[in-house]
Parts: sequence; C-alpha cells; structure tokens
Amino acid sequence: MKPISLKIASLTLATLMMLTTACGGAASSTASSQAASQTGIFTPGTYSATTMGMHEMTVTVTVDANAITDIQLEHSETEGIGAPVAENMPKEIMELQGLGVDIVASATLTSEAILEGVTDCLKQAGATDEVIAEWQAKKPEVEAEEDAEYTADVVVIGAGGAGMSAAITAAQAGKNVIVLEKTGSMGGNTILSGGAMNAVDDGSEVAKAHDDSVALHIQQTYEGGDEQGNLELVTILCEQAWDGVEWMKELGMGFTGEVFTVTGGLWPRAQRPSDPEGTGFFKAFQSYLDENTTVTMLYNTTANELLVDENGAVCGVKATGKTGNTVTVNATNGVVLATGGFARNVELREKANEETQLWPTLDESIPSTNASGITGDGIIMAEAVGANLIQMGNIQLLPLGDPETGSLSGNIEHAVESRIFVNEQGERFVNEGGRRDEMTLALFEQSNTTMFIVMDSDTYPTGEELNNFGETMNSLVEAGRAYKADTLEELAEQMGVPAETLTATIEEYNRHCVGGDLEGQEDEFGRTLFSDVEGENDGINDAPFYAAKRVPTVHHTMGGVEINANAEVLNANGEVIPGLFAAGEVTGGIHGTNRLGGNALTDIIVFGRIAGASAAEYTR
Ligand code: ADP
Repeated sequence: MKPISLKIASLTLATLMMLTTACGGAASSTASSQAASQTGIFTPGTYSATTMGMHEMTVTVTVDANAITDIQLEHSETEGIGAPVAENMPKEIMELQGLGVDIVASATLTSEAILEGVTDCLKQAGATDEVIAEWQAKKPEVEAEEDAEYTADVVVIGAGGAGMSAAITAAQAGKNVIVLEKTGSMGGNTILSGGAMNAVDDGSEVAKAHDDSVALHIQQTYEGGDEQGNLELVTILCEQAWDGVEWMKELGMGFTGEVFTVTGGLWPRAQRPSDPEGTGFFKAFQSYLDENTTVTMLYNTTANELLVDENGAVCGVKATGKTGNTVTVNATNGVVLATGGFARNVELREKANEETQLWPTLDESIPSTNASGITGDGIIMAEAVGANLIQMGNIQLLPLGDPETGSLSGNIEHAVESRIFVNEQGERFVNEGGRRDEMTLALFEQSNTTMFIVMDSDTYPTGEELNNFGETMNSLVEAGRAYKADTLEELAEQMGVPAETLTATIEEYNRHCVGGDLEGQEDEFGRTLFSDVEGENDGINDAPFYAAKRVPTVHHTMGGVEINANAEVLNANGEVIPGLFAAGEVTGGIHGTNRLGGNALTDIIVFGRIAGASAAEYTR
C-alpha cells in the first residue's frame, strides 16, 4: 500500500483501507465520520483517495447527506498542462453536483485521475452503484452555439509547437491570424515532451567543446534516418536550428545554456529549457498573445475539411465547434496545417506499420506518449485535397514509457551519459547511447518487454532534484514509480532482479567510465557515450542508487504530408498545392526511418516559422 500523507491522516484521524478503483488500479483511501448514520445518499464526512494523474495526487472530498460541499486536491500536475485542470475541474464538479464534467483532451490523465478520486470518495461515503451511475450521467448544460464564419489573412490548424510558431511568425509579418485548436488549450504533444531541442551554434565555445558543428548535425540526422530523409529539408532543419533558439529567446523563453545528449540524440547538442517539459515554449507563445491582438485562438474547434476555390487553391477550413456548430474560417493568404502526427490513431498506425513492418505490433497493447487528440486529422484532410503522403510506415517508439500509461512522466534519466538500461535479468542488452529504433527493438526482445533505467546519485544528490518532467526523485520513489537504495543489492531486490547479476553488470559498465580501466576498448554493445566528468558522472558508483521500470511506447510518426523547402504541400506529381502549407509532425520525409532525439522541437520551430512566413507571403 502506498503511504498516506501524514497531514491528511492526522487531520482526519483516518481509518485506512484499500480500495480497488474503477480502473482496476489500487488506490489508497482514508475516511472519517464512518460512524455517522446515512439518511441521504451519502454518509456525511470527509474522505480521501490517492490516484495517479501525470503524477500522484490525493483527492479529499467532503459531503453532507446529499451533496459534495468541498473538494481539495494535493497534486503536482504540470503547470500549463494538468495544473489548470486540477484548478478548474473540482469547481465544475461542485457546481454540477455530478461527475459528467468534460474530460480535458490535452490532460486526460489528470482529468481521469480527479474523477476517479472523487468517485472513490463518494463510494467510501456510501454512494450506491445507482447513485454513482446517476452522478456520472449528469452533464453540464451547454447552450448550443451558433454557426459562425470568420476571415483572417492566415489560418493555422493546430496549436502545438509548429502551429504556434507559424501563427506568431505570420503575425510578426503583419498578418491577422486565426488558430483553430481541437482541445481547450495550446500545447499538443509539444508541451508533453522533455523539452530538449537540438541546435548547434556553429563555431561557438560550446560547440567546440563538444566537437560539434552544423555539418555533423546534418550528417547524423540524415544517416540516423537511414538516408531516407529529404537532404534539402534536413539541411534547412540543422542550419536554421540555432536561429530558432534565438527566436524563442526573443519571445522570452529561457534556456539553461547547458547542452546534453538526449536519448537517441547521438551527440551532446540538446539545448535544455529552464522550464520543465515543453511548458517554456508555450509560456513564451502565450506572452506574445497577451501583448498582441492579431492572433485569435479558436479553442474546442475541430477542423474537418480544407476548402478549395475554383482554381484549386486551398482558401479556408471547415470545422466543428464545441456544441456541434459549424465554424468556417476563410483565408485571404495561406492555410497552415499543424495538427501533429497520428500515434493515437491505432488503426492508421497499424496500417502504416504493415508497409514497413518496423515493429512486431502497433496494436492497442502498445501505449503512446501522445495527447489523445493526436489522431492524424491533418493527414486525412490533406490527402482529401490531393496531398502526397510519404513514409507513413516510419513510426518511432521509445523504450521509455511509463508501464501503466505509456507517458514519459516518471522517466528518471537526465542525459544519456549517466544511465544504463537493464532487463529483468539485471543485464544490459543494448547500446543505450544509440538510435531509438535499435534500443526499442532490443527491448521488444526482453522478457515482458520491460527494462529498468539505472543510475546513481550524481544527478540527484538529495533526491529533491527534478527530472526532465518536473518530478522530484523522492516523490517518484514515494509513489512507487522509482526505486531508491543505499546498495546495489538492495536496489536489485526492490527491482526484482538478481543482485549478483546487477552488481556485475554495473561493475563492468563502470570500467568504461572515468577511472575505469578499459579506456580504448570497445563496449560490448558499441556504446561510446560514457560519463566523462571526474567526480561528477564517473560511473554508477555513488549511493543512493535509483531505478525505474519502463516499456515501449509509440512516440512520433515520421511519415505524413510531403512538403518542399518553403513548407508548401506537394501533390503526388510533386506539384505545389496552392495555398496549403504544413509544418511539424503532420509532415513526412524529413527524419527518415528514425528521428534523432531532440530534433522534433527543432523541426516544429524551424518549419513552423517557414510555414508561417510562406503562408503570409502567399496571395491567391
Ligand atoms: P507539432 O509538434 O507538430 O506542433 P503537436 O502534437 O504539438 O504537433 O500539436 C498538434 C495540435 O493540433 C494539438 O494541439 C492538437 O490538439 C491539434 N489538432 C489535431 N487535430 C486537430 C483538428 N482536426 N483541428 C484542430 N486542431 C487539431
């Protein structure tokens, strides 16, 4: 059982019990006032449940005989993603006195965890199954919205990183812009990412210190995708990456200035944002919107169809508003597609995988890191107006998914150099500094397709330091999502792997790190990225030791709509479809078979800016 927070336990003089939640997971719960008699639908009192959103949360609900009178959350959901939902949803439930409130698509884990926690508390309060069903059926009344028609210079579909970069670039070029976004907030998958953005400031001291250059970035991107990417687009991606970083800085985004090797990034060239996950990008975009009125956001508006004029040019978008009303947006200049990939469209990803058979399966048993709205809508809309779809079978999985949700939260690694992967037998099985596809394919070969990230306290001296997802190591350990031990033997016991093997694996690995005696000799898996800072990351040898369990998860779809260097969408004959531009994960053919870690954020900023500029310039 998970330890219950002392604060709540002492506040409520709790009776502790185990409950099985609706999702089948275990939730720990406390209840007070059990002795009070039940005259209405609830036994009055205060009840608590612990559930799992992006992070663990405690939901505390106070009821009288027939109503909820208070809901309190103890949570650490991410600012800009889950936190606004944790703020609003309890109020909505209170107001409705029902559980049929809307799930927020960009924060489904948080939404579902709150509903699960409140439901659990109501059950503890004696609510019968009939009462729960009745409360779940209660939905907020929505006033039907009228059909509406708008006109803007540039229309952008999707408010992830690519869409917002395009929208702001077009606005900076003096255009009025309307952005249609399916969910209730900006962010898409971009905000859920670890935030690493590959970019080389050619000739700078940092680049020199790591023997890095734009030329090497181009070469590794192209070769890392088995030379299937379009070399012209790869060159643009890498050459304009640093400009992209500078542009984000001008918009107010903070970077730590430190570079690191992100998993599958192959080289230390990832810029690290000051804010966790992808939130820094959206704070900067939002502050632009706060100061400039030329970008209008239409949230909860799902684009369904691209409108085409009598000359075959794309001239607008037809969409569905929140209450099923039709929203039409006409473009005087161009339309930018930035709807992201299709990792959450199981049917489409299975069909695409049949082409290449890169993966043993991509059926629903394989989770995804993606937001639930990432279903390939833009790809389907573009195909309907003749766009060429390329390399749809190139789909990226990561070996780093949360075993329950597939999300990247709970991932304890900070940089490639300071961690290893071991299987359930306590053995390394792959070059952990290599390509993402090779690492994940190797993971599919391991028992239960399960591995552990193992590292020491060099990265986490006190345990209060944050991972790349804004979580402290101690909170992950407390929630049972990571293991911590003073010896490798104890760690092995917690992980359920043979202690002797784990110890031997780490001893062997350490011999390649600073102070080891294998300098010049090859690692058995071909790993070349080892910790090289004496005293800091000098191997896995400083207690306490940490581990976290991970599984394969669908992360990025590299195939999609074909574009040229101006981000113009092409048809099957290689001709430009006038008026239609695309950027980000909706496009295909840049990354080839395998995208380098850290190149997605570069892609959305670089090609988002190009698409925004091209759409602003375009006239019919
Ligand atoms: P990228 O990394 O390419 O910017 P993201 O996944 O970050 O992609 O963002 C894509 C955005 O597009 C998400 O916010 C998603 O909700 C939105 N989106 C997807 N389909 C539609 C649609 N049909 N209409 C409007 N917005 C959409």
